Amino acid sequence: MDGEALLDGLLRFIRRSPTPYHAVENASRMLREAGFRELSETERWPPTVSDGFVTRDDGSLVAFRSGHQPLLEHGVRLAGVHTDSPCLRIRPRPTRQSQGYAQFNVETYGGVLLHPWYDRDLSIAGRVTGADAEGQLISTLVDFRDPIAFIPSLAIHLDRNANKGRDINPQTELSPVALRLGQGESFDFERILLEKANIDGRADGDASLARVLSWDLLLYDTQPPARIGLRGEFIASARLDNLLSTYVALRALLAAGNEHTSMIVCNDHEEVGSVSASGAQGTFLSNVLERLIANEDSQADAFPRVIQQSLMLSIDNAHGVHPNFADKHDAEHRPLLNGGPVVKSNANQRYAGGSAAKALFRSLCERTGVPCQWFANRADLACGSTIGPLTAAELGIPVLDIGVAQFGMHSIRELAGSQDPGYLLTCVTEFFNRLV
Ligand code: ZN
Repeated sequence: MDGEALLDGLLRFIRRSPTPYHAVENASRMLREAGFRELSETERWPPTVSDGFVTRDDGSLVAFRSGHQPLLEHGVRLAGVHTDSPCLRIRPRPTRQSQGYAQFNVETYGGVLLHPWYDRDLSIAGRVTGADAEGQLISTLVDFRDPIAFIPSLAIHLDRNANKGRDINPQTELSPVALRLGQGESFDFERILLEKANIDGRADGDASLARVLSWDLLLYDTQPPARIGLRGEFIASARLDNLLSTYVALRALLAAGNEHTSMIVCNDHEEVGSVSASGAQGTFLSNVLERLIANEDSQADAFPRVIQQSLMLSIDNAHGVHPNFADKHDAEHRPLLNGGPVVKSNANQRYAGGSAAKALFRSLCERTGVPCQWFANRADLACGSTIGPLTAAELGIPVLDIGVAQFGMHSIRELAGSQDPGYLLTCVTEFFNRLV
């Protein structure tokens, strides 16, 4: 796949995936179109499925391409990513009023960088669950697409300390404004949501809702992803962490051969610690692996034998060194945008991977002519983490944490290099097709 086509596809995927549910829906569509068979966790699976995928709670997905080589001899080549990003989410009682304005009642999801949320044209998307006329519960995805809310800055004349490191109170200072209310008017968001759910749901073939009962909705920036820079060397977008890795992992799986078994796991809830049924600390991945391995060998020792033959690349974006804040990085570990995939290293196991996995990945990069960089946190700064160490601990599988460098992680608009998705795709495709 050429670099421009990959970037176009990536930016389109991110734009159409404002929530983890939409990311999984779009990934499922790509897999279906490529002939992958959708499996349900509640049903018995056929004994042989060559290309398949399964979702859990609409926000997580596992997809696999079965290889000719037995799992017991060659294991699984696995790429792990996450589908969620820090954001503002709508609470169960969705609105509040102040000074004649209707506002959304929000809470933060994950480690949100709060300042960039001001003065953005915001929309709302997510999952709505309601009942049809017979009382049957139905869930459907919604995306308002149009800008329908805004969090205005306070004018500098009213806040002379605005540029001096002012704190933001997420309870009192972040409510997006939705409407200027007329005399006696109230804001019935549930009615608007019901109309929207029925329009979007019907387009997807779902039955219509008689009422809305609950939702998982978030706010997002409507500004579309863009190429940036005099030579187009950057991409700016929301959710680059971690839909960039999600899209590249999907593309790599679609390009994988069928000599060995390749698999991707796309987990929701990474940004809030992964402790959920569909998160990396849940049972989703191990349940899928157990079922696939049992199809080949039902002996109790088959699972640990396959796991120890396997390797997972945990792919999540890394911190590129910021030219204005270079001293936030260790001087010898300063990854650059468009410098190729970053191998993340942390002696305290905040990132997974021992010397064998790191050496394997470095030799894979050398073989494919892809540059490769190192990241290790400053010793006096707390280190972040991702699904890599959690999955390694849950399954006992060898894992290596890698990812492309970016700026502004967890901002509503992040910046990455436009060459790095191509480098990453080359590496992950090679990992699936020819590990050693
Ligand atoms: Zn991430």
